[in-house]
Amino acid sequence: MIQRRKTKKIKAGNIFIGGDASISVQSMAKTDTRNVKATVKQIKKLEKMGCEIIRVAVPDMKAAQALGQIKRQINLPLVADIHFSADLALEAIKQNVDKLRINPGNIGGEEKIKAVVLAASKKKIPIRIGVNAGSLEKDLLSKYGGKTTAEAMVESAMKHIKILEKYNFQNIIVSLKASDIERTIAAYRLLSQKVDYPLHLGITEAGTAFHGTVMSAIGLGILLDEGIGDTLRVSLCAPPEEEVMAAWEILKSLQIRKRGVTIAACPTCGRAEIDLARLAKKVEKATRSINKNIHLAVMGCVVNGMGEAREADLAIVGGKKIGLIVKKGVIIKKAPEKNLFNEFIKELEKIVGKF
Ligand code: SF4
Repeated sequence: MIQRRKTKKIKAGNIFIGGDASISVQSMAKTDTRNVKATVKQIKKLEKMGCEIIRVAVPDMKAAQALGQIKRQINLPLVADIHFSADLALEAIKQNVDKLRINPGNIGGEEKIKAVVLAASKKKIPIRIGVNAGSLEKDLLSKYGGKTTAEAMVESAMKHIKILEKYNFQNIIVSLKASDIERTIAAYRLLSQKVDYPLHLGITEAGTAFHGTVMSAIGLGILLDEGIGDTLRVSLCAPPEEEVMAAWEILKSLQIRKRGVTIAACPTCGRAEIDLARLAKKVEKATRSINKNIHLAVMGCVVNGMGEAREADLAIVGGKKIGLIVKKGVIIKKAPEKNLFNEFIKELEKIVGKF
């Protein structure tokens, strides 16, 4: 049983982050925020897949002005991602976003910082301080000999936290992302000993879907296993749906949260007489939108197939160009390979309803 580190409970729209709230799954829209229709469409798709908080980039005033329209059409808490501009932050607040991602030390002088913090405070909008190893402040870089160490990242986070606290603002979430596992883990461990603000976990620029998922699973998995982390985003150079799926798989694999389908599939070997890899992929793709907690198995032959099928709600066990469909360990159908997928989906819909 993982013992979670005690953190403050922060509200962002209709969701809580930290405290006893579930560890939430986030993603970031990859559309042009000014294109409201495309952004809303993508967000709705991500919501269906289990995304719980969505962030959008706000590169200019037109994007900031589109936030209200986007927010009115979605159910997820909307986070405005802003760099270096108090004016964009103020507009995002005016547009009623649910959370800001901005580093207060980078948005101009004291007056500008004060204006943003007071406006966020008035509307009870939390601020995530997002320290990225790639964009560490120059003075800290030179202090640490040009190296973005975990200590330098934590010092940067503390600097931004202190700016907010100076204005009595404690509605704070923090992230400390590096592109490698070692620094990311060291930075989060260090910061978690210094503050009790909720932590948003992520490895930045983690790479393509395959590489990034492995990196995030290891890095975020280690932190989560230590009880560190209140919300997570798996950053991938891939469609955002992949980020949401990967984040859920991490939480499910650590038994932290349950959602949707878990598919056990054998690696196949010379004994398999059906195209199992293709079938498993088809089943995975078709069942992505199911949010009911259900265990499926797709197995190549009876050697391990029937044993795995006994533990599954529904399973396929391959044979010689045929397959058995097994429900909670009981064979309910036999179908030729070409009909196997459709027959399996029909039986699955009897359990979870149309999807
Ligand atoms: Fe091979 Fe059968 Fe085991 Fe799959 S279940 S890996 S096909 S022995």
